[in-house]
Amino acid sequence: MFEKNQKKVHTITFGCQMSERDAETLTTISTKQGYQRTEHPEEADLIIINTCCVRESAENKIIGKIGQLKKLKQSKPDLKIAVTGCMIQQPGMVEKLKKKASHVDIWTGTFDYHKFEELLSLSEKGEKVALVSEDFSNSKEVAPLAEKGKLKANVNIMYGCDNYCAYCIVPYVRGRERSRPKEVIIGELQALAQSGCKEVTLLGQNVNSYGRKDNFGYDFADLLKEVDKTSNIERIRFTTSHPKDLTDKLIDTVANGKHLCEHFHFPFQAGSNKILKAMNRKYTREYYLERAEQILKTIPEARLTTDIIVGFPGETEEDFEQTLDLVQKIPFSQAFTFMFSKRSGTVAANLPNQVPLEVKKSRLQRLMELQNSRSLEWRLKMIDKEYEVLVEGPSKTNPDLLSGRTRGNELVVLNGNPGLIGQLVMVKIVNANSWTLFGSLV
Ligand code: SAH
Ligand code: SF4
Repeated sequence: MFEKNQKKVHTITFGCQMSERDAETLTTISTKQGYQRTEHPEEADLIIINTCCVRESAENKIIGKIGQLKKLKQSKPDLKIAVTGCMIQQPGMVEKLKKKASHVDIWTGTFDYHKFEELLSLSEKGEKVALVSEDFSNSKEVAPLAEKGKLKANVNIMYGCDNYCAYCIVPYVRGRERSRPKEVIIGELQALAQSGCKEVTLLGQNVNSYGRKDNFGYDFADLLKEVDKTSNIERIRFTTSHPKDLTDKLIDTVANGKHLCEHFHFPFQAGSNKILKAMNRKYTREYYLERAEQILKTIPEARLTTDIIVGFPGETEEDFEQTLDLVQKIPFSQAFTFMFSKRSGTVAANLPNQVPLEVKKSRLQRLMELQNSRSLEWRLKMIDKEYEVLVEGPSKTNPDLLSGRTRGNELVVLNGNPGLIGQLVMVKIVNANSWTLFGSLV
């Protein structure tokens, strides 16, 4: 009876792991208010759409999604719809969206999550509410509860960003960089471990500058060392490493860690020094190459992944070839590739020599083809070798099989019974394509 009457919340999230973590926070606030999670939007009493604005394509998808919910709201007038996160944080955005989406009940940006409970109560009383504070410094953190039985979790070690890469909107919608003290982080990890969590990803826009501005007296490598010893989490990952701050100390710490996964996600964004400078990335291709070599020299089994943008303003064919050249030189196991997208308010949005869409599309295609063949080369080398895999659940493509990830974060599909879900097993790789390894239990 109680079950039947309980209100339900359905959450849809766009964007990065940081955004996923925010969605988790907002969902947890709703569950504290009596909502039960549901996977089915049609049975929800509250739908949260947590947004992203890193690229225009994400925004267009989100606008489409908000529009789709109009029908559901019409057939279920008591349904509450909340639109939250990065996209909403942009100046003037709520006013713009409201015109098309009067069916939305709550609008709120990234600095006001601590007020979400209040906003929810107001909307339950029938009010339409919008709260987008301009100043991040008044925001208070709300840590999500450790959800029972969750195998993997994201944990922020810091918020915001001070790097102002010329193309990027993140510093404008997430405020200045601030780090969380190690005691708070370790406490959260221990609670997660107790609730059955096996793998945690420590999140920051640039984890390598952790604690620096806050004068903690310990840096990211020190934090990792301590987390490795005291958190009781089987596998610890971290993202993102800005190459400019990737130190030997960090590499050595990962090499000597027990639970620290040997995976570095460190985006190079562009291969040409001219473009790197225009992007305000503060390193050169030579420096980046040297960092990649240092990682592989210290940890030969390490996995490197990256983000790359094509078609930054002023990028010529020669500049782009330098990007291809880095992909040839460095054995990335995976690359996330994007076409430059103009973000209003960023420096790059107003630069001359914007690259035509057709050119960007063709460069992206060439880059993806090259990376796919490099990823395949890399994965084929893994055949006949054995790797530790955390079994995460049934395979998405074939539910009779299981899927999991190596320490290097490569996806593995394997045979085995569902009782293995949540366990670390040894798997021998028998086949591979560019994205997936296929293995059998050892
Ligand atoms: N803090 C992380 C990245 C956050 S955004 C870092 O510094 O690496 C994730 C990725 O989106 C970036 O690495 C970049 O490759 C891409 N990105 C950001 N802004 C973009 C834009 N305007 N157009 C295209 N890609 C963009
Ligand atoms: Fe954006 Fe650069 Fe900050 Fe990453 S480091 S979030 S790319 S400004």
